[in-house]
Amino acid sequence: MNKPIVAAIVAALAFVAPASAQNYPSRPITIIVPFSAGGPTDALARILGERMRQSLGQPILVENVTGAGGTIGVARAVHAAPDGYTLSIGHLGTHVINGAIYPLNFDVVKDLEPVAKIASNPMWVVSKNAIPAKDLKELVAWLKSNDGKVTAGTAGVGSGSHFSGVYLNQQIGTKLQFVPYRGTGPALLDLVAGQIDIIVDQASNSLAQVKSGKIRAYAVMSDKRLAAAPEIPTVDEAGLPGFHVELWSGIWVPKGTPADIVAKLNKAVTDALTDPAVRKRMEETGLDIPPREEQTPQALGAYQRAEVKKWWPMIKAANIKID
Ligand code: ASP
Repeated sequence: MNKPIVAAIVAALAFVAPASAQNYPSRPITIIVPFSAGGPTDALARILGERMRQSLGQPILVENVTGAGGTIGVARAVHAAPDGYTLSIGHLGTHVINGAIYPLNFDVVKDLEPVAKIASNPMWVVSKNAIPAKDLKELVAWLKSNDGKVTAGTAGVGSGSHFSGVYLNQQIGTKLQFVPYRGTGPALLDLVAGQIDIIVDQASNSLAQVKSGKIRAYAVMSDKRLAAAPEIPTVDEAGLPGFHVELWSGIWVPKGTPADIVAKLNKAVTDALTDPAVRKRMEETGLDIPPREEQTPQALGAYQRAEVKKWWPMIKAANIKID
């Protein structure tokens, strides 16, 4: 083959070559938050995004694509170009549980590449102050004596606040009336205003309102108390032993994103998670930061697959309806 033809082929191949880390990122990156602004997933995206900008040299724009328990936002990311410019943030609900509830046009495991596990956070049971209960046992008695009438705010079917509420129903034999919002940010506003009765919430979402006495927390759904609110007992101490849900969060990119771009993104996330200012902000809201060895793409992938194995049979048995 003569030289000009070879050069033309090389040039053409360079043109169609997939995105690579060489000059990545050369424009802003979007992180899709599948819940409302002001909620815990949104807050996490903003805290990390701000610090990742320093490592990557490009802004991380937060886009809230809400609805259907987070499935709409995750679908948007799954179907985006696999070039590192669209990230998907989510949690046990959006990236595991929803796969067992919704007829999705994607696979929560196979159609995304894991980047890093970023945080975990126990759920806890919170209520409006007007409810007369003073501890978990009294709350359970109140829920039972008002069965069928109690409203519980959620971020939509399949969200952390929803499946944890379904789990509470199973534990104590009640039927909560779920009120879906596009995220637990707006659900919390309604709880504080007394429009709904309870939320089985992510602790990081409602910690500040509990601390300021605007709402009441009864028990942390973990075997250890929260460092940020040590006065609140665990469910084991308060009367529902073993009623644990840890809502862990992660970041993913569309399947097919080049490995060197995933590595660059992972480095930006781990840089953020070692930054003392970021750690302080996360710890203040009750978020646990995973140990370094759990922050790799491989560790997130393995953890997500293990969580699918653990949760899907239980969720399918619960036969949760989406409408
Ligand atoms: N934490 C919420 C949930 O899944 C969603 C949100 O971040 O607003 O219940």
